[in-house]
Amino acid sequence: MEGELRFETRAIHAGQSPDPATGAIATPIYQTSTFVQPTPGQFIGEYDYSRAANPTRTALEANLASLEGARFGLCYSSGVAATGAVLHLCSAGDEVLLCDDVYGGTNRLFHRVFAQLGVKTTLVDMTDLDAVRAAISSKTKLVWIETPTNPTLKVIDIAGVSAIAREHGATVTVDNTFATPYLQRPLELGADIVCHSMTKYIGGHSDAIGGCLMTSDEELMRKLKFVQLSEGAVPGIQECFLFLRSTKTLAIRVERHCANASQIAKWLEGHKAIERVLYPGLASHPQHEVAARQMRGGFGGMITVYVKGGLDAAKRLVERTRLFQLAESLGGVESLIEHPAIMTHASVPPEQRAKLGIADHLVRLSVGIEHVDDLTRDLDQALASRG
Ligand SMILES: *Cc1c(COP(=O)(O)O)cnc(C)c1O
Repeated sequence: MEGELRFETRAIHAGQSPDPATGAIATPIYQTSTFVQPTPGQFIGEYDYSRAANPTRTALEANLASLEGARFGLCYSSGVAATGAVLHLCSAGDEVLLCDDVYGGTNRLFHRVFAQLGVKTTLVDMTDLDAVRAAISSKTKLVWIETPTNPTLKVIDIAGVSAIAREHGATVTVDNTFATPYLQRPLELGADIVCHSMTKYIGGHSDAIGGCLMTSDEELMRKLKFVQLSEGAVPGIQECFLFLRSTKTLAIRVERHCANASQIAKWLEGHKAIERVLYPGLASHPQHEVAARQMRGGFGGMITVYVKGGLDAAKRLVERTRLFQLAESLGGVESLIEHPAIMTHASVPPEQRAKLGIADHLVRLSVGIEHVDDLTRDLDQALASRG
């Protein structure tokens, strides 16, 4: 039955059924660390200890797996904890290819934590498949894709990179945080593992930190589950409940994020205070065609702009918006604005920032689901030249 149900329906029902003890329609918050055993080694249900598994978390993991079209799901205490779990598939001497424009915390984890354990990371501009072919070798264990990228919103051809990785026996992981499973399903395009920071669109309300991994490969699942149990970077039960509540509205939230962002991106493209707009849905975006092929029904809620007038103008914009609040993070119902060079990407070395185009006049917008006219008016007053 589940296989026939559409995304919106699975978002509400997958992994969940009325509580057998009471009939409660909402999945209960099983706020318990342990479970009683009638005799040693015999469980009443499936559970013995909540680091290993907890019913609220199990419901969330099954729900998320269903949304990505995966057989298995695993949840973590944060997006970077989920990322670290994947890196544990590597041993000293293994090599990793990482797309060059990634979340700052991902960059830090690969280059400053796992590098010390002997895992070597090479940055590649994966919008160029020839560059991927040139960089990959028999030592490459893992290929890490993030698309659209953060903050320059480059779009990487997941099927193209996955086919190259497959020839070399490398595991492909896609950080699908920006696109969400509603718009993009990497496993269907040939990837092995999908990663999310649930803190962003999956949670969607800027009130909880979490991460998850999904795969259909039994062997990968076994290894990842072992790391989850052994390292214990699992989410709290309350958080699992919040994320389970959030996925129910993911489809309608993402639709509104996309509609608002696409209208605002077009409007910004014609604004005289803006030098350039990066949005995968615009015909002017360098990988617009790839985006149209692999993102279904929308291009996401993130927009990046180069403001005319350098750092001063960029700072003025982020300080003057009233609805777009100046803060890190993204993907919530409320609109946010931020300055990557000073805020989210400050830890990226200046030479790399320059190479990637993370300039002082770059500003990133996370377009929320408020009324689009109010958001446009807010940006317009913030961009107006003052007398
Ligand atoms: C935020 C983010 C992460 C890290 O997630 P946390 O939940 O903050 O640990 C990873 N990848 C992307 C694309 C992100 O935006």
